[in-house]
Amino acid sequence: MNYISTRGAGAGERHTFSDILLGGLAKDGGLYLPSEYPRVSADELARWRTLSYADLAFEVLRKFCDDIPEDELHALVRRTYRADVYANARGGDAAHAGRAAEITPLHALGVENGAPLSLLELSNGPTLAFKDMAMQLLGNLFEYTLAKTGQHLNILGATSGDTGSAAEYAMRGKHGVRVFMLSPNRKMSAFQTAQMYSLQDENIFNLAVEGVFDDAQDIVKAVSNDHAFKARYAIGTVNSINWARVVAQVVYYFRGYFAATREQHVDASTALADWPKVSFTVPSGNFGNVCAGHIARMMGLPIHRLVVATNENDVLDEFFRTGVYRVRGAAETFHTTSPSMDISKASNFERFIYDLLGRDPARVRALFHDVETQGGFDLAKSGDFARVAQFGFVSGRSTHAVRISTIRDIWDRYATMIDTHTADGVSVARQYLEPGIPMVVLETAQPIKFGETIREALDREAVRPPAFEGLEALPQRFEVLPADAQRVKDYIVAHTA
Ligand SMILES: *Cc1c(COP(=O)(O)O)cnc(C)c1O
Repeated sequence: MNYISTRGAGAGERHTFSDILLGGLAKDGGLYLPSEYPRVSADELARWRTLSYADLAFEVLRKFCDDIPEDELHALVRRTYRADVYANARGGDAAHAGRAAEITPLHALGVENGAPLSLLELSNGPTLAFKDMAMQLLGNLFEYTLAKTGQHLNILGATSGDTGSAAEYAMRGKHGVRVFMLSPNRKMSAFQTAQMYSLQDENIFNLAVEGVFDDAQDIVKAVSNDHAFKARYAIGTVNSINWARVVAQVVYYFRGYFAATREQHVDASTALADWPKVSFTVPSGNFGNVCAGHIARMMGLPIHRLVVATNENDVLDEFFRTGVYRVRGAAETFHTTSPSMDISKASNFERFIYDLLGRDPARVRALFHDVETQGGFDLAKSGDFARVAQFGFVSGRSTHAVRISTIRDIWDRYATMIDTHTADGVSVARQYLEPGIPMVVLETAQPIKFGETIREALDREAVRPPAFEGLEALPQRFEVLPADAQRVKDYIVAHTA
């Protein structure tokens, strides 16, 4: 498997999975993609239906990381996707153990407009958000790769919540890796703060910056742009453009597909075109999660629609409705009650545009040059936009009022508590139900992470998994620093000696 940049640099070079694992953007500013997508056969689908999550992950990942010896990759994914790591599944007692073993259980809601509607639970991992699904794999991949080369890595990031905690829980105790995570001092919820700051591992450093999230983000950019410092202190990132994160997420689309079609009679002799279709709705921000769905579909998984759900920050919905991609400034980026989708531009979007434009790097380069200079591009009048439908994409947006009423409705109708991001997904999914085609909404977080909005919607406390009882009372370990890149550099220097 060879990896190429969406902007075409180094077209003659070879990049393996391990080569791009520790890097971020390609050197021309593009994103990495495989030179072609591996395809699945009906025979493989038939065999994969009954595999455990870890064994399915091995089958999917080996197609993308053929430079890692198979037995080592297999051991690594089995270490990653274990029932005791994904132990926060819904439902107590007897049902619980079985659901945890499934890693991403499918939770049926009911049949609406003739379509079976269900949630794919992706948030049963250590930090109760879907980012664990990929980040846990990344932690083990980093440790494995660094051990082989004898290198160290210092991960520097900024977080307003989900990403930072997922990264810290994935990297805690890993050999060769340190995490320096910047967060805005006193700006996160008590739950999110406690999740991160209660970690006592020696390789995890929580830096509470006196400022807002954008200040923390600016510091990360400033440090990363100091190339000498970056090289000397082996600074890396784990942001959502990381290819290994995207590819790890491909696995659960297969898993969700198999679960939603469990009752159907298909086997290796069923032509791929005759396999049942399933639609997925994905609460989206940086387009990382739904990009993985796009890749699963390109591999031949029979996905009908990929429904992109946004909140009030509707950059992506605007594109899929109109063909206009227009990034937003800070003043136009709203703080909403589904905060992990509050983005002004979608960092993984370029991967889809590359495929939409027939994999033409010169055009991708031109369009994303326009994003930088003019704040966007317009494909409405080109033939390209008409092809979006061939890729299965449709979209919709949600608002606070819709979010609240959807949480209430799902609670009243199905006795199921959903978080605010998943609620955006459900409300948009309902616009695209088709008789006989299962609709799977990806559940991206558990309600306890956004307890305040749950109280507003349901006038009751959010369900708290047993492992999180008393979280806020645990001792916390963090350092307060001024919003000053030099002070952060000094801190890194002092703590990497
Ligand atoms: C990160 C996140 C999203 C958005 O995912 P993208 O891959 O950025 O599109 C949605 N919901 C939750 C809870 C998240 O943490």
